[in-house]
Amino acid sequence: MTTEFDLLAYAERQAVDYVQSLEHRPVFPDEPARRALSGFDEPLPEQPQDAATILEQLSRLGGPATVASAGPNYYGFVIGSSLPVASAAERIALAWDQCASSAVNSPAADAIERTAARWLLDILDLPRNSAVGFGTSATAGALSALTTARRVLLARAGWDMDRQGLAGAPAIRVVCPENIHITVRKVLRLLGFGEDNIVNVPCDDRGRLCLDAVPALNDRTLLCLQAGEVNTGGFDPFAELLPRARKAGAWVHIDGAFGLWARASNTHAYLTEGIDLADSWTVDAHKWLNTPYDGAMVICRHADALAQAMNSDADYAQADPTAQKNLGLEFSRRARGIPIWAALKGLGRQGVAGMVERHCALAGRVAEGLSAAGYRVLNEVVLNQVLVRADTDEQTRAIVQAAQQSGQVWFGPSVWQNRPAFRISVSSWRTEERHIEALIGLLARLKHEMPS
Ligand SMILES: *Cc1c(COP(=O)(O)O)cnc(C)c1O
Repeated sequence: MTTEFDLLAYAERQAVDYVQSLEHRPVFPDEPARRALSGFDEPLPEQPQDAATILEQLSRLGGPATVASAGPNYYGFVIGSSLPVASAAERIALAWDQCASSAVNSPAADAIERTAARWLLDILDLPRNSAVGFGTSATAGALSALTTARRVLLARAGWDMDRQGLAGAPAIRVVCPENIHITVRKVLRLLGFGEDNIVNVPCDDRGRLCLDAVPALNDRTLLCLQAGEVNTGGFDPFAELLPRARKAGAWVHIDGAFGLWARASNTHAYLTEGIDLADSWTVDAHKWLNTPYDGAMVICRHADALAQAMNSDADYAQADPTAQKNLGLEFSRRARGIPIWAALKGLGRQGVAGMVERHCALAGRVAEGLSAAGYRVLNEVVLNQVLVRADTDEQTRAIVQAAQQSGQVWFGPSVWQNRPAFRISVSSWRTEERHIEALIGLLARLKHEMPS
């Protein structure tokens, strides 16, 4: 009979072996590995199964078909890997299996997340009295933030959303850049704002909202902006727009899923100037802070407003307004702030700045190397995102496919100004100069080999 401790030790050995393999395993699983996944397609067993056999199957079939997005050669989407201290802290927290809803459930989770929250406001230089809710994603954070925003704007107009609902409520107009991230659009859709009530402001060729095209703002306006547009890494013009929005009484929400971390750097904080004047922000830890999935934050200047909108107190579960269950969507969740705390402590202020600065410099090197190899870099590389095109649409598509199939790197296609492009995002602590040089070398060779 295998004991619980044998199983944990087996899992730990598998985990260590896997992480050791990251650098050299195929970045995207090959066809045989993917085909073998049919081994999971079994009927639900009627009887209990042997735990060791289950773990062995998981490792044998699942492991080879994973994407090595935690490794140094993955440049898709904006997917950081996990810092060792964050992964290891997460392992301990998993063993604790805490419900991090409030200090009643877990004094440890409550205390650690309070420290992580304080550090986040410090390193991101946002209003220090803001509420920080930890959750699964920037998407979930945006749902909390935009719900709070609407509730506050309606309350200021004399409408009690909790009691009166939305039917017959004063109209709230949403203003956002036309290229606002799809998850913000999803949240607006879920909240029932309706496309017709959204003003899509045109953007310039750097992916930033055009200031001249912003309509008049008022106290029934919800303005959503972004710090770090997915294709270009562009930042909306906060310093110009936010004072105006504030004066008008609008609510400003910032989607800073990855880009808000620029604020922690010395070299790129200028991009975020004025961002602290917003009302709410969302930011992921699982992207650029390099913590494990899922870890993200909603930050709200109006701490009470977030706590009221997200309140879930019940007779049997009372907590104060700063308890995590009253700051986010989840009533029960694991302590997502623990790996975030560990990452922030492990890196320190200078380490976070250094990582952001290093990735931006490496992205600059990608742009330089690919330009020299005959590619066209489509964006001004202000951050860690590089948007690239080859000579023709066919060549661009063929190169993306060949690069993915090489197993040496992975990045994904994108569309820019209605034509195919590809995007390289440098966001893993594991990625070093030698990986970037190998990437440039591979792409130079593919460009040479592929007909244009
Ligand atoms: C990834 C991303 C999101 C969504 O974040 P999740 O944590 O995946 O929900 C939102 N905005 C931008 C700009 C992103 O890159």
